[in-house]
Amino acid sequence: MKIFIDGKFFSERDAKVSVFDHGLLYGGGVFEGIRAYNGRIFKLKEHVERLFQSAHSILLKIPLTPAQVAKAVVDTVRANKLKDSYIRLVVTRGVGTLGLNPLSCKNPSVIVIAGKIQVYPPEMYAKGMDMVTVPTVRSLHSTVNPAIKSLNYLNNILAKIEANNAGVEEAVMLNAAGFVAEGTADNLFIVKRGELFTPPLSAGALYGITRATVIDLAEQAGVKVSEPNLTRHDLFNADECFVTGTGAEIMPVVKIDGRAIGTGKPGPLTARLVHDYHALTQVAGEPIY
Ligand code: PMP
Repeated sequence: MKIFIDGKFFSERDAKVSVFDHGLLYGGGVFEGIRAYNGRIFKLKEHVERLFQSAHSILLKIPLTPAQVAKAVVDTVRANKLKDSYIRLVVTRGVGTLGLNPLSCKNPSVIVIAGKIQVYPPEMYAKGMDMVTVPTVRSLHSTVNPAIKSLNYLNNILAKIEANNAGVEEAVMLNAAGFVAEGTADNLFIVKRGELFTPPLSAGALYGITRATVIDLAEQAGVKVSEPNLTRHDLFNADECFVTGTGAEIMPVVKIDGRAIGTGKPGPLTARLVHDYHALTQVAGEPIY
């Protein structure tokens, strides 16, 4: 595997960052998870744009232009001769002193890893997933804004552990007001009477790129989509439920907090969107070769 670090490629063994990197010491940095399908990088422009927005919010100056970052992603996938890949794009604050002040970090690092991912077991996509709501709530907009995809994922990791401890794969995270925000690494949708609903971004969700794609696909299919605040009661009484993310794609959800959702099986609109999403991934995106 060839890993891009600051303009050069390194083998897996030699791809290293300093113990003084504030990405390691303080979680100072931002990242993106991107997919390549069938020789194309899906939604590359959108991911690079979100990376720059996350960096801007935490006052991190990425040392490359968006076009150069996009090229680094394409070059890394090409160097690894991959057609299908999960790509991790990371920008760390770089080496600094042991103190908190990020001004000591003069050279942020840009890292690209092109590998593979299997977020959930394949049979789960057919059967659907169980979720539970967890005590750890999504961070407030007045703390680390949940729209920032930073290297500080501890809040989501705690929620994930709480879900795992309850014997399921994924957590429904509520916000401090008790409304549904999202999963630990995916956005959440429900279907009710043929319409699609997802929490508003203001509820504390990440501005998901898969979320936006699914909204587009649903609207193209003539399905009405709205973004109201949702409660657990709304989830329990939905006809269908699913979560979306670059890694997970679209995963049907069939039980939440012990309540069956709809028939307790993946629903027809979910299946339609899974089909349309997979079809789109095969033909859309930035060509690698
Ligand atoms: N929410 C969180 C917290 C995430 O980290 C992610 C991405 N892994 C998502 C939602 C889904 O976003 P996207 O569709 O852009 O991958």
